[in-house]
Amino acid sequence: MSARVHGVLREGTPGSQVSVKGWLRTARHSKGLSFLDVSDGSCMNGLQVVAPPDLANYDDEIRHLTTGCAIHASGELVESPGKGQRVELRASEIEVIGTTGDDYALQKKRHSFEFLRTIAHLRPRTNTIGAVWRVRNVAARAIHDFFQERGFVWLHTPVLTAADAEGAGEMFELAGSEEFFGRTARLTVSGQLEAEIGALSHSQVYSFGPTFRAENSNTSRHLSEFWMVEPEMAFCDLEGDVDLAEAFLKSVIEVILAECADDMAFFNERIEKGVVETLEHIVASPFERMTYSEAVEILERSGHAFEFPVKWGIDLQSEHERYLTEEHVKRPVVLTDYPAAIKAFYMYANDDEKTVRAMDVLVPRIGEIIGGSQREHRADVLEARMTAHGLDLEAYWWYLELRRHGTVPHAGFGLGFERLVQFATGMANIRDVIPFPRVPGSLEF
Ligand code: ATP
Ligand code: MN
Repeated sequence: MSARVHGVLREGTPGSQVSVKGWLRTARHSKGLSFLDVSDGSCMNGLQVVAPPDLANYDDEIRHLTTGCAIHASGELVESPGKGQRVELRASEIEVIGTTGDDYALQKKRHSFEFLRTIAHLRPRTNTIGAVWRVRNVAARAIHDFFQERGFVWLHTPVLTAADAEGAGEMFELAGSEEFFGRTARLTVSGQLEAEIGALSHSQVYSFGPTFRAENSNTSRHLSEFWMVEPEMAFCDLEGDVDLAEAFLKSVIEVILAECADDMAFFNERIEKGVVETLEHIVASPFERMTYSEAVEILERSGHAFEFPVKWGIDLQSEHERYLTEEHVKRPVVLTDYPAAIKAFYMYANDDEKTVRAMDVLVPRIGEIIGGSQREHRADVLEARMTAHGLDLEAYWWYLELRRHGTVPHAGFGLGFERLVQFATGMANIRDVIPFPRVPGSLEF
């Protein structure tokens, strides 16, 4: 069995026999020795393999190895005289498993992220995208751990649905579904409505899976397919919901900082200077909380020239969200109690009859990372809201019926997983934090 590079670099003892398999990030051939930097995706650093000329296949094969070739190297681990690495492998045998040619796109020089998107089958071999995938992995596990440790049940909500959770008409329709299902099937925009079913039987549930939005938003923060984390809690109001969101974000970021130290050091140095400090600050300080109305007042009095003018009732734009979190409080802000007119039908109506118990968590650089609410659990109020929104009540019969059998206050939120990864890594474009981005006009890979 060959070892993973990560384990060898961390725990390999000089003098031991080791064998690794991986791809060459660089190959340097000097007179009589070859230096091969072998990476297998397990960590930021590669393992340096030194190949002496007495290897049987040195002249025929080793001497001609280039970036991108795949090898299996065996030999003795020795202390490395080189800077920045504890050990290196003195090879006694190297099997060349896969070769490459001049047309290999990932030669040494740096590539733009735009170009790398066109070679999504090779880009995970780069430092940056390689690190993004590892951070995604750790973040996903941290999310499951957070909820599992608190007794939440992971609920698998459907991808194919007949309901429009957001009532926003931004859904992809499935061709042929009329004949197949007897009704129009669409790709889900949110697992929330089904998560509410789960909350009203299992008290605390969460869904974590892909969601789809057919909105034509060509921005650095929108994908047509993205992953969403949606906890839902029974016997919970808006304040409990905000408390959970804050504890959740802090916990996941803390795990990323602790477990992805090398990758985060890379992002901090090469991608977004200061991102580690920003994250540490976020873990350490309480989130600011204010109502939408207070936020609008702050924006109006700011004297800042916004592209979209601010007045009570507008849907806040990214520039407004970023001003609040980046300029005004300089840490995450949770806005609550939004105007009913700009929010979805299922949010709990406040007594003022103008606002609903919605909340958005805003963070620097990204703006909205979480959107949530206390849900309307009063049957009569919900029915009136849905009628006012022009929804077909019959299509939501089960959702309404839940309000007639053991209805209780409940609340939840949705976190865009890629926005979290984008925030944590400092990556500028959301298309670079999902392995295979789907956006308007693009469906390769
Ligand atoms: P935005 O105003 O930024 O488009 P939204 O209000 O439509 O977001 P919600 O419907 O509240 O978002 O969805 C919950 C979360 O899902 C958001 O807070 C965000 O993190 C994420 N999200 C929403 N739309 C997208 C998208 N197109 N691509 C990636 N993440 C998204
Ligand atoms: Mn949206």
